[in-house]
Amino acid sequence: MTDFTYAVDADAVATITWDTVGKSMNVMTQEAFMTLNDMVDTALADANVKGIIITSAKKDFAGGMDLNAIAKMKEDGGDNPAKAVFEGVMGMHTILRKIERAGMDPKTLKGGKPIVAALPGTALGIGLELPLACHRIIAADNPKAKIGLPEIMVGIFPGAGGTTRLVRKMGAMMAAPFLLEGKLSTPKAAKAASIVDEVVAPEDLLTRAKEWVLGAKDADLVKPWDAKGYKMPGGAPYHPAGFMTFVGASAMVHGKTMGVYPAAKALLSAVYEGALVPFDTALKIEARWFTNVLMNPSSSAMIRSLFINKEALEKGANRPAEPDQRVQKVGIIGAGMMGAGIAYVSANAGIEVVLIDAAQEAADRGKSYSEGILDKGISRKKVTEAKKAEVLARITATTDYAALAGCDLIVEAVFEDMKVKAEVTKKVEAVVGADCIFATNTSTLPITDLAHASARPEQFIGIHFFSPVDKMLLVEIIRGKATGDRAVAKALDFVRQIRKTPIVVNDARFFYANRCIIPYINEGIRMVAEGVEPVLVENAAKLVGMPLGPLQLVDETSIDLGVKIAKATKLAMGDAYPDGAVDTVLFAMANEGRLGKKAGAGFYAYDEKGKRAGLWDGLATAYPVADAQPELTEVQHRLLMAQVLEAVRALEDGVLMDIREGDVGAILGWGFAPWSGGPLSWLDMIGAARAVAICDDLTARFGDRFKAPALLRDMAAKGESFYTRFAPKKHAA
Ligand code: NAD
Repeated sequence: MTDFTYAVDADAVATITWDTVGKSMNVMTQEAFMTLNDMVDTALADANVKGIIITSAKKDFAGGMDLNAIAKMKEDGGDNPAKAVFEGVMGMHTILRKIERAGMDPKTLKGGKPIVAALPGTALGIGLELPLACHRIIAADNPKAKIGLPEIMVGIFPGAGGTTRLVRKMGAMMAAPFLLEGKLSTPKAAKAASIVDEVVAPEDLLTRAKEWVLGAKDADLVKPWDAKGYKMPGGAPYHPAGFMTFVGASAMVHGKTMGVYPAAKALLSAVYEGALVPFDTALKIEARWFTNVLMNPSSSAMIRSLFINKEALEKGANRPAEPDQRVQKVGIIGAGMMGAGIAYVSANAGIEVVLIDAAQEAADRGKSYSEGILDKGISRKKVTEAKKAEVLARITATTDYAALAGCDLIVEAVFEDMKVKAEVTKKVEAVVGADCIFATNTSTLPITDLAHASARPEQFIGIHFFSPVDKMLLVEIIRGKATGDRAVAKALDFVRQIRKTPIVVNDARFFYANRCIIPYINEGIRMVAEGVEPVLVENAAKLVGMPLGPLQLVDETSIDLGVKIAKATKLAMGDAYPDGAVDTVLFAMANEGRLGKKAGAGFYAYDEKGKRAGLWDGLATAYPVADAQPELTEVQHRLLMAQVLEAVRALEDGVLMDIREGDVGAILGWGFAPWSGGPLSWLDMIGAARAVAICDDLTARFGDRFKAPALLRDMAAKGESFYTRFAPKKHAA
């Protein structure tokens, strides 16, 4: 069995049908490319064949390149992986270029066979690069289909001619959102952007494709860039308009990426340099830059965390072997900010929801939150009235606990108060069935302690959502001491239903994400107290790829929450509490009513519309800026180490059980420098020995919080990396 099949019909039209063996979505591998190549050769060599349709037997066309195959291409290269990658990519170019030229005479551009791509649904990455090499792209009018080149999202760029072809087809300016932001479109939107040529009713797809093949003329097969006198739309770099585009694009990309994403820079270089030379040379330049990106450790780490491992976790890599635990009816207690969000994502995933609050008005308000999101979707034409009605009909907003009967999962999101939560647990357990799993969305209270209120602690678990629930991709599942496997499986199946990414951690103060993020915020505040220029603190964070500086982050999450957490932590830790210097600043801000963004005043000043208006100038009065300022790298090391050392300690303590979860959770949970692939990937990138040296230096100057954990020291001594020492075991998915 091969991933492509070949058939010639009575009208002498060959159809090459993509149907990746054993997968629901087509993905391209090197072997599959070879099969495709052989079939194209057969069709071109067969004098009887009039033309070729390339299509899919699945509901979609293709999801992209098998990124494992890219990783393998590098591994197979032995001592010279760059050469192997470059040659592999050039091999793909040769095949796609052959499709594009389709046997035509290179001088007269005549005599080629028409080749059409017929896309039944989604076409991503190589799934669009292959059609772009065909002479025509016809897509089925499937509003669920996504068409685009999302490679940039995992740290690479379209390297099988997609970059060069799209830019030559639509111009650099128009291609920018598709290449630089990985913008995806529906077939109709892709037609409007002239990425695809035609959109037809799904049932007409193959008929229309065949009609086009049989009616195509020689001129229909010649790509603009192969025709005489081709000029790039919008102008090449030395054209006045093109010049503006390229200058603007460089500045924009740098502004957005802070220069930390190698793929964005390489993409721009491939586009700029490629635009100055003939098409085939441009492909070679694209291949060189693509190789350059693949050889950068950032791209491997991003592919590993954001694609391979993220997908493995979503598919249940750490799911205990329990029967199907998909949720039919979920009860959500507390219809506040979190409960309302959890109700929306559940109902949107087809789950029946009972949303409870202490007062009917509060429950109704929680439900109207869903209405608001759906209305926004309608105004953006993403949601239909029918879909809105269907989702809202699934949510019952009530104060009546009896409505919880028949729920197989409860998610409690009431006030962060042990006593309130304990009462709710008891009240719920009195009405739900014996099999029901009880989850708490607490962000700070130990699951093991909360489970004391439950008569069935093995069915008690933490499911920690991040705010805002409908936007944040990560869900942290927390195993209490008594939590059983079925509860874990239930939580994982629920997270899969609502299409988020789960990590499963053991119970400890602040679990995983908050445990790492709090020291980051604290280190930023501590530097302000020391007299480090606040703007240096914020910019250092952004220049190392953090989405928000620590001061902006605490403003967004609110300074009073910071105070609350600090007080509770101090109470729990007693004399061992290390953050007194931080509290001096934090408490003073709170006392002045500077509670962050929501108060329109915090470490930043805000205008009357609530927009940030620069760092608050009163900070300099309260915490005078020192004459001698630290180096940028030192500030960055402090901010990064504050987070990554906590991740290492979480692994040492057994809170993290799988390094993949440590990395994926960090990027999706709090935006940890995605270019690095996550905290543990970053440590692997710099090496344990260098990490220990940085820790030793920071410890000597700033204190024991930077002390290298024993695990890191041991790894440094043995020359180990996290991904070799803790290579994930193969679990059944
Ligand atoms: P919130 O104050 O917005 O909502 C809490 C809701 O619970 C209120 O509507 C309140 O009326 C209701 N409630 C209180 N006692 C109740 C009872 N006995 N029965 C029924 N309803 C009751 O709070 P929130 O921000 O949604 O947080 C809820 C939980 O989620 C807390 O445990 C919090 O720590 C956790 N959490 C919050 C965030 C966040 O960013 N806000 C993130 C993760 C987890």
